[in-house]
Amino acid sequence: MNTAAVLCIGTELTRGEIINTNGPWLAARLTELGFEVRAVDVVDDDPERILGALRRLGAAHGVLVCSGGLGPTSDDLTTEVVARALGVAVVRHEPSLESMRRRYEKAGREVSASSLRQVEIPEGAEALPNPVGIAPGYSAALGSCFLVVLPGVPREVEGLWAEEVAPRLRSRVERRSFQIRLRTFGLPESIVGERLQGLEQAHPSLTLGYRATLPEVEVKVLVRGGDERSSREQAHLVADEVRARLGDAVYGEEDDTFPEVVARCIRERGWRLALAESCTGGLVAHLLTSAPVSDFFIASAVTYANSAKTRLLGVNEDVLRGHGAVSHEVAAAMAEGVRRVCNVEVALALTGIAGPTGGTPEKPVGLVHWAVAFPGGTVVEQRVFPGDRRQIQRMAAFAGLALLRRICLDEARHTPAAPRVV
Ligand code: ATP
Ligand code: MG
Repeated sequence: MNTAAVLCIGTELTRGEIINTNGPWLAARLTELGFEVRAVDVVDDDPERILGALRRLGAAHGVLVCSGGLGPTSDDLTTEVVARALGVAVVRHEPSLESMRRRYEKAGREVSASSLRQVEIPEGAEALPNPVGIAPGYSAALGSCFLVVLPGVPREVEGLWAEEVAPRLRSRVERRSFQIRLRTFGLPESIVGERLQGLEQAHPSLTLGYRATLPEVEVKVLVRGGDERSSREQAHLVADEVRARLGDAVYGEEDDTFPEVVARCIRERGWRLALAESCTGGLVAHLLTSAPVSDFFIASAVTYANSAKTRLLGVNEDVLRGHGAVSHEVAAAMAEGVRRVCNVEVALALTGIAGPTGGTPEKPVGLVHWAVAFPGGTVVEQRVFPGDRRQIQRMAAFAGLALLRRICLDEARHTPAAPRVV
């Protein structure tokens, strides 16, 4: 049976005190492996209700992955209840006890009676050593269902998944489908949909899926039917066609992020980057430094006040007075200024009105000018972005990154990449 379910256990989840990130994360990983996930359930720390959920989901699905409640406290009941569902006793897992002892010794702590609970598993279950924390996960056969039980802490779930769970599940799934997720930026969802019209008719085993998460649109190419090999081949064929129809709007695949891809483009040119941010308040710098690929990135000057634009970037006061801070001229002067001050090849500057106040009929809320100064000159763009302050800032940051990417791609098309400047 290729169907799977996820069960997240914890009263803090059912009360809404924490957001259930494990559920969707596990569902996505199971889907990637080729399972059809039919339920993502949440149950509170109540033994009868946990037992009921285990029995119900276990009877209906080929795989059931649970998270939460493996810790040492009185609200951590999962293992006791799983043992009941399996009709076995709870036993101590000696290797996990040993590694807990070693960890505690290093920290100068004693192993208390309650902490022993964390290294207990149902008798006969296969322990899955926890690469990140103390409580091991485990797997067992619950009737015909392959049951996997994991701790609640997301980092531990992720570690256990990669090292122990995914390798075991991979061999259990009968793969008949193949999915490629293409990541796009720069075209609205409706235009993306229009450009891809006719593809599903041309490929009967194809389903296209769209997911818009401001400001990006993900296109899912899912091919079902036939065997894995033919599904994969066809999915790649369709993905190539999608790329051809959407052009540079397709920036990556799967878990690529737009800032990471832009960072890669700049590094491939051998360029170093500096930023001058006004309305985005450092957001572009934050996006670029969220992944650890930042050696090309030199500085971001958050120059909010006009005086900062003048003193830090050398923007001429007359230009500021004559055109206003939110203008084509000031965006260009900011980019050129920070490029000069930081002595880098490429610079991006943004200036705009993020709102909710400060707009005028000529310069409404949402108006943003952004400029890139690079060896080929200075390019300035502008737009009025819709939405609230957070949305305007995000759209502006992505628009600035998109201009950087376009300039890098154009340069790459005209001249081969320069050797890396160290
Ligand atoms: P611990 O040893 O920390 O008690 P545990 O395996 O018993 O681990 P829980 O007590 O259920 O797990 O959860 C521990 C913490 O992990 C929670 O306080 C919460 O911060 C996080 N957590 C648990 N379940 C989820 C979930 N479904 N999504 C996101 N975070 C979760
Ligand atoms: Mg706990």
